[in-house]
Amino acid sequence: MALTGIQIYKLLPQTNCKECGFPTCLAFAMKLAAKQVELSACPYVSEASKAQLAESSAPPIRLITLKSNGNEVKVGNEVVLFRHEKTFYNKPGLFVAVKDDQGAEAIRLKVKEMDQYVANYVGIDLALDGFAVEATGGAGQFAAAVKAVRSASKKPIILISHDPDAVKAALAELPAEAPLICGADGKNWEAMTDLTKANKASLVVSGASLDELAELTEKIKGKGVEDLVLSPQVRGLSSALAYETQIRRVALKKNFRPLGFPVIEFPKTLAAATQAIAKYGGFVVLEAFSPELVYSLLVLRQNIYTDPQKPIQVQPGVYEINSPKPDSAVLVTTNFSITYFSVANEVESSGQPAWLLVTDAEGMSVLTAWAAGKFDAERIAKAVKTFNIADKVSKKRIVLPGHVAVLSGELEAELPGWEIMVGPREAVDLPKYMKQVL
Ligand code: SF4
Repeated sequence: MALTGIQIYKLLPQTNCKECGFPTCLAFAMKLAAKQVELSACPYVSEASKAQLAESSAPPIRLITLKSNGNEVKVGNEVVLFRHEKTFYNKPGLFVAVKDDQGAEAIRLKVKEMDQYVANYVGIDLALDGFAVEATGGAGQFAAAVKAVRSASKKPIILISHDPDAVKAALAELPAEAPLICGADGKNWEAMTDLTKANKASLVVSGASLDELAELTEKIKGKGVEDLVLSPQVRGLSSALAYETQIRRVALKKNFRPLGFPVIEFPKTLAAATQAIAKYGGFVVLEAFSPELVYSLLVLRQNIYTDPQKPIQVQPGVYEINSPKPDSAVLVTTNFSITYFSVANEVESSGQPAWLLVTDAEGMSVLTAWAAGKFDAERIAKAVKTFNIADKVSKKRIVLPGHVAVLSGELEAELPGWEIMVGPREAVDLPKYMKQVL
């Protein structure tokens, strides 16, 4: 059961020394109760208090880390049911499954292609997190497939087999790694727990009901393995959503430790994969790879796991597009990534040269920033001066986004000697505008 702020306060030194960054021990205790700080921020907690607080201060959903060759996938540690309450922290790991009966060379080639897939979205490189190898035959076949995957990719691996002998053979191919073993069930859990412990791996636990899952995780924890992932046996979208929501809710709202683990999902359709990313898959294992499927899921995941209070931003400054010359025009926009890339991509694909002046609008889009007072004539003029754009151009022409045409008069006053022009409202209309007007 979670301790209240007052109960936690009684276990703290109560000296109000402020070293934790809070003015009083009580303030720190309240934050700890809300799971917004780590206990380690107070250097003076006694060992006895630490033991009592450990259970209470542990994250409600355990952080699971898979490691391989310098690559890491971190999943879990979430503290809210809905993103708007705060943010989601650790993106679900996106994996693709490979069956072990396809032959080593075919597996190697397939994994290599998937491993090399990278999609650039608003300046961020997005890629798969790893591969799941699924056993369909004996231990030798499984180990050979894992070896083939490892020869083609350095990314983390999920081992899917309920046969402890097959898992043992596969683990021998992954020395000094921390893979995910999938999985343990009511029959094999003891052998799987031993293997997981010996190899410092994580373990997926499957069960037909939440009661069965909770019972199994407690037994496995009793044998010393805490890095667990849940695999509820679900059928269809509504069942998956119901199970995922119940698990997340009891873990967060009731601090129910037996279900305080991330969930693994094996979606069979795009709709199911989309739902798994949104609510609340920890590991999402796809049946097959196709660039269009993976791209849409990676972008969805990126957007859901972006902190809504910290929009993705680009660095303010002057960006040169298509090798601009001194007589090329200066276009203005804000530093919200999606806005920047919409403008930059349109101008770049038009083939026409331009200087793109990106102003610091605290990561907001043009209209939002204007409404919030973060994109006005003063800020634009300041950017013009800060980035010395006047030294780069012979014709002092600056093009405002059409949505903020209202700023043109004020900008004229701020930038004497500059011709202030009003461009189109939408980035997609920039190539035509540039061709006809500039
Ligand atoms: S560091 Fe520890 S003792 Fe000092 S104020 Fe914070 S909680 Fe209290």
